Amino acid sequence: MNSAVEFICDSCGAHIDLRQQVNLCPHCGGLLEVAYDPKIMRRSASLMTDYRRESIWRYRDLFPPVSPCNIVSLGEGGTPLIKSRHLGPSLGIENLYFKNDTLMPTGSFKDRGFSLAISYAKEIGVKRGLTYSSGNAGASFSAYSARTGFPGLILVEYLASDTKKSMILLYGAKAAILDFENFDEISAMLDGAVQQLGCYMFVNFINPVRHEAMKTYAYEIFGELGRVPDYSFHPVGTGGGLWGTWKGYNELLTMGVTDRLPHMVGVQPEAVCWLKQAIDSGAEEGQIYGDSRKTIAQSISGNSPLHGGKRLIQCVRESEGMAMGVSDEEIMEAMRDLGREGIGAEPSSAAGVAAFKQAVQAGKIRSTDTVVCVITGTALKQPDVVRRVAAMPEKTVHADVNSLSEALEYFQMG
Ligand SMILES: *Cc1c(COP(=O)(O)O)cnc(C)c1O
Ligand SMILES: [Zn+2]
Repeated sequence: MNSAVEFICDSCGAHIDLRQQVNLCPHCGGLLEVAYDPKIMRRSASLMTDYRRESIWRYRDLFPPVSPCNIVSLGEGGTPLIKSRHLGPSLGIENLYFKNDTLMPTGSFKDRGFSLAISYAKEIGVKRGLTYSSGNAGASFSAYSARTGFPGLILVEYLASDTKKSMILLYGAKAAILDFENFDEISAMLDGAVQQLGCYMFVNFINPVRHEAMKTYAYEIFGELGRVPDYSFHPVGTGGGLWGTWKGYNELLTMGVTDRLPHMVGVQPEAVCWLKQAIDSGAEEGQIYGDSRKTIAQSISGNSPLHGGKRLIQCVRESEGMAMGVSDEEIMEAMRDLGREGIGAEPSSAAGVAAFKQAVQAGKIRSTDTVVCVITGTALKQPDVVRRVAAMPEKTVHADVNSLSEALEYFQMG
């Protein structure tokens, strides 16, 4: 039985019907959050304790209601939780896990959110929509909207790799390149698009349901581990992944399947780490910080928060977590670490692992802690960085046994 009740505004507390086609609060322009009935939610507890790898729709009773005929699904979610063989043990942390969302239908964890957001938009009769994208969201929006014939326009930031830009058109959507100086211009444009142009928006948080799908990170990780981890590391762009996962863990508490919560760790490139600046300075709201062009972690290079980033600041503080910044060098090293674990990650998606290593070195993680790093997107989306991180083979072998034999000697495998 579905447990969603209504939207509640973060800022003025207004209650709004879930079937209304809204982005921001119609009264004050604040962010809306889906509220659930805890009594009904508890009926979903057995889904958490009896885990199976399926799509996010296994948990549809914990989303805003969507009729089966409106569900647009490509098998998103249910990705494996892989135990580290090398990195964790080499640092004395035996229980390090990677949640491998590089395996998602369009190669990034954005598919969780867009499967839900597009399905829900169909359900409430939205006729067309718009999203800003650093690249992966655009591919995901394009794939899900094209499948169901939903007209969508994607504004993809100019910094995205050519591969990311082309994937958006491959899946069939309309797209334009988005030019900007700082991320705060994008924030203002998005609010204006909703409030002045009446656009229906799919950007995290401004779209009030997309990040609900990120709760499935918490459900799936709990399901596989049989417990809540001690630390949950997330690369942060808009912070939809971090916030949604935190909401999911809190729901596990409400459902009574756990009595603990993880420490949530938000990770950004040090070139733009506004969240760390806000946490370190004790601020209530995040400010513009740094330059989006100064990092290879392009999916998380936004240099200012949406709506002050209050949810993210609250998440880090309440969970007694951390906000961290990592350098490009640390990110590239983390990509190599993940490679040896069998996971090809794009730079942004390896940032959490880079932060984990930093945290271990700073003595923040105990050897008995269970740590999960979510790996949000595949290396194949940024092939230029892959070539920087991993060299091309230098040796050529001619297709004959003598040449092969010589190569075996060369590689000391003879
Ligand atoms: C979008 C994205 C992120 C950041 O996700 P948010 O929910 O916006 O914080 C991280 N990694 C990858 C690969 C992404 O595409
Ligand atoms: Zn309001």
